[in-house]
Amino acid sequence: MRGIERIILESNNFKLVSREYQNNSSVIKLSNGYEIGDKKIAVIAGPCAVESKKQLFDCVEFVKNAGASVIRGGAFKPRTSPYSFQGLEKKGLKLLALVREKTGLPVITEVMCTENVDLVASYADILQIGTRNMQNYPLLKKVGKVNKPVLLKRGMSATIEELLLSAEYIISNGNSRVILCERGIRTFEKMTRNTLDLSIVPIVKSLSHLPIVVDPSHATGKRELIEPMAKAAVAAGADGIMVEVHPNPDDALVDGKQSLGFSDFSKLMHELIPVARAVGREI
Ligand code: PEP
Ligand code: MN
Repeated sequence: MRGIERIILESNNFKLVSREYQNNSSVIKLSNGYEIGDKKIAVIAGPCAVESKKQLFDCVEFVKNAGASVIRGGAFKPRTSPYSFQGLEKKGLKLLALVREKTGLPVITEVMCTENVDLVASYADILQIGTRNMQNYPLLKKVGKVNKPVLLKRGMSATIEELLLSAEYIISNGNSRVILCERGIRTFEKMTRNTLDLSIVPIVKSLSHLPIVVDPSHATGKRELIEPMAKAAVAAGADGIMVEVHPNPDDALVDGKQSLGFSDFSKLMHELIPVARAVGREI
């Protein structure tokens, strides 16, 4: 083999996630029979953090009626400052389980450490690995041994190849139900919280069979940018979007500036319909 070809091959050393290994796009089945990666665009919506029963239930009732397919809500929050709200932890997990019981919708929440994987897996339908943990290999190995789908967020400084290799860790440990998530990367740009790298969507689609969703909330950090970027994500071929929604965004304990209020979320859901249709998908 010639040098340059070998370098390309060595750098592409993900296998199980690749299109060569599996040509058909993976469709990830969730506990209620709902699927991510099929024709219907998954809309994962809910508050950044579970704050109270009322906040969560008000939000869930609204996003469900507006057409959300999966409920998000952080119980264990990875905060930049140790003095910021860290989440309701187990109480938050219990509230999420109650949401599933009441609505029948699957719930997703973050697991931050290996010690909590079994606990979180006993309450959640999808385990979320956050941007700060994309390369926490013991955690990836551990969720690879769990029988629950995993949403793997791109590290804020990770390349697409590194994201795919992290997915490879999960799949090679036995769990093939991995959903990738673009949530923005760090660049020199300061007008947005992160830079949304939408080119990842067609790149992942060509290299991998895994579904990919886009999180315009963390990618932009700005409420007014969520709608245009969500539309762009769907137009680019994303399998879903993850959006933070709060009953009173200005009072949110976490990420209020990038959370949609109810009327903005409704508007987004309506405006996504023709965009999805234009690329042969449904909302
Ligand atoms: C989140 O979705 O709750 C979150 C903390 O996102 P990220 O890991 O992308 O910052
Ligand atoms: Mn958040």
